[in-house]
Order: sequence, then structure tokens, then C-alpha cells
Amino acid sequence: MNLRKASLAAAAALTLALTGTACGSNSGDDDGLTIGIKFDQPGLGLKTPDGKYEGFDVDVATYIAKEMGVEEADIKWKEAPSAERENLISNGDVDFIAATYSITPERKEKVDFAGPYFMAHQDLLVRKDDNSVSNEKDLNTSDLKLCSVTGSTSAQNVKKEFAPKADLQEYGGYSECLTGLENKAADALTTDDSILAGFAAQKEHQGKFKLAGLSLSDEPYGVGLKKGDKDMQKDINDAITKMVEDGSWDKAAKKHFGPANYQYDKAPKITETS
Ligand code: GLU
Repeated sequence: MNLRKASLAAAAALTLALTGTACGSNSGDDDGLTIGIKFDQPGLGLKTPDGKYEGFDVDVATYIAKEMGVEEADIKWKEAPSAERENLISNGDVDFIAATYSITPERKEKVDFAGPYFMAHQDLLVRKDDNSVSNEKDLNTSDLKLCSVTGSTSAQNVKKEFAPKADLQEYGGYSECLTGLENKAADALTTDDSILAGFAAQKEHQGKFKLAGLSLSDEPYGVGLKKGDKDMQKDINDAITKMVEDGSWDKAAKKHFGPANYQYDKAPKITETS
């Protein structure tokens, strides 16, 4: 623990003693953290049938927590659907969010970010035998039934940037688009390649889908936190830097993206410093 952290901890302990309320507030647990992740994105944030949590985002969040002095057992995981992330942070329902959360100027009006800790790119998942989409221009047609998620940059980009004419269906989570893709209610699911690779590699989907291979955008994943909490931003940036430097980042990326054969970018430079 560095000096600042130590004095923060002392101050927190004092507050606790004086007010009798729990610090770290959200979990209602003195030394724990409540962290927002996705529950339905294999490779990134997944709640398994036996109630465990796994994925790259989970490993990044766990590493950060450890650097803050919080053990894995004291983390409370909370589902953070795309459209609810800013609210979960502003309302204090989570301490921070690591949930394929792209850093954007619009979101930065409501929350702050640390990082980025990963760089993804928007792509499309289509049925294996479908070769109708081979470049960005093929997207902007009302013949194309696209599926994405409310509150995501993926849906936003389609509407505002590259395919305003497409017939876009929006759901609460990406997994809901997969059924539609399988039974042809949708022609493509569009979001980050990292997420799509995870779905394509899932046992029950093997041989059914493929990525179109378009790099439609840059999606720098940040850790979302309460606006103005510069101390937390610095602590998280320090933890991410350490995770990259000590090889844990590489290990986690290999572990979670390797099985899906996803060719990920190297760790990006930290940009969110104030
Ligand atoms: N990274 C994009 C976003 O933050 C898409 C993935 C997601 O919805 O979490 O919106």
C-alpha cells in the first residue's frame, strides 16, 4: 500500500468509526467492491451456470481490485447491461465498471474512465454460408436486418455512421441477437469483434457463424467510474499499467481470447489521466 492509499484507508476507517456507515458504500460491505461486468459475453464477462464469473474483463477487474487491497472473495459482481452503465455508476450502485465499455466523449459527460485497457473494433457476425457482406458499403441497405444492443456504440455507429438505412433491431444484450441470427430473423449481429469471436467459438455455436472481418471502428475499453473521482482513476490506471508490465495482461488475453482464435491488438496506451 502506498502512502496515499494508506492515508485514504485511515480516513475511511475514521469516517466509518465516526458515522458507523460502511465505506466503499455500494456493497454495504466495508472492505469489498461492487464491480459491474457483463454476464452474457463469453471471453469477456460471463456468469457460468455454476455461478462463477469469468472472462478478460473479470480478470482485469479482479487485478485492479487486488491492487486496491480487495481480494477476489470480497468482490460483488453486478450485471451492467450496455444501456445502464452510466446510471449504475452515477447512482453509486457500483464502484466501477469493466464491461466492454468504450470510452466516448458522450459518456464522458456523465462518467469518468480509467484506461483504456483493451482495443476492440466493430465487426459483424453472420451465418457461416452468408457472403453478402464484404465491406462497409454493403451495410447501408434496408434489405439488411441487423441486430445490436440498446445503449451500445455499435447500435449508435450503425444509425449515425455507416448504415442509417439498415433495418436495425435492438435488444438488451447481445446473446438475444444470436437466436435471431440462427433462425434468420436477423442477417447479422454487429458489435465489437472481441465479443463476436467469443460467441462464434461457443460450443453450441461452433460451425454456425463467422465474423465478416470488417474493422468498422476503434473501441477502446475503459474502466468506468464516478465523475470526478481522480484518486480512483489514478489507482486504476496504475493497476492497468502494472498488469501489462508484469505479464498478467498477456496471460489473461491468451487465456480468454486464444480459444476463440481472436487476434487482439496489443495493450493500448493509457489516455484517461484527468
Ligand atoms: N464497446 C461497445 C460499447 O461500449 C459495444 C459493446 C457493449 O455494448 O458493451 O458500447
